[in-house]
Amino acid sequence: MRLRVLGSGSGGNSLAVRAGDTLVLVDLGFSHREESRRLAACGADIGDVSAVFFTHDHSDHCKGVATFHNRHPSVPLFANGGTADTIAALSGVNDGWTIFENGEPFKVGELAVTAFSIPHDATDPVGYLFEAGGSSLFVGTDMGCVSANVREMFAHATCAVLEANHDPILLEQSDRPISLKQRIRGRTGHLANEDAVELLVGTNPPCLKTLLLGHISQQCNSPSLVRRAFSDALAELGRSDIRLSLLEQDAPGDLYEF
Ligand SMILES: [Zn+2]
Ligand SMILES: [Zn+2]
Repeated sequence: MRLRVLGSGSGGNSLAVRAGDTLVLVDLGFSHREESRRLAACGADIGDVSAVFFTHDHSDHCKGVATFHNRHPSVPLFANGGTADTIAALSGVNDGWTIFENGEPFKVGELAVTAFSIPHDATDPVGYLFEAGGSSLFVGTDMGCVSANVREMFAHATCAVLEANHDPILLEQSDRPISLKQRIRGRTGHLANEDAVELLVGTNPPCLKTLLLGHISQQCNSPSLVRRAFSDALAELGRSDIRLSLLEQDAPGDLYEF
């Protein structure tokens, strides 16, 4: 499998996964022009995409869907029923959907896909586990806390894209309205650094080789805090075999092969 995260954060999210000839996107959180530009910068053509998977119906994950569907009407849009209905209502994209059930594995080309329910304040949010050639990619961002589902899926990962959204003290000190602070730190909000670290330490996934931290808040977190917290945790676990990297909002990440 090959992974390129095209961008990660509250300003827009999308990533590209390739297994053999199968190229899929997870989320379309950028304009079509920006999505195409970022894919092209990674050496891929948006015309080669075989499917798009949606995690949930917040605009930073689906705002590019209408133009994408207009330009590429034959590319299936995968989501569970609740997410598809809400995105359809928001975007006017009423056809092209392929509906799956959370927790029931299916195949798209060379990828085996399992969507799993995650705690977040959207209609029916999911994370994904993609499997091909003996490797697994975990995608889990936008979750207020770590559920048993998340723990079980993360434990299988060879490569993981995990949310490290905020530092609780920086969130508290920020000038955000109290209602927004409560939303972010709630059980269906976004994952704090310490909760993401606890997931890593608590599961210590035996096959994990690459850990990519994303959806990092620009106001309520800092890359140095994230890096230090996870480096310390990996040192404590004795896992020098795990490569750590922080994802950015404004530019695609590196190419990862696993
Ligand atoms: Zn988001
Ligand atoms: Zn969200």
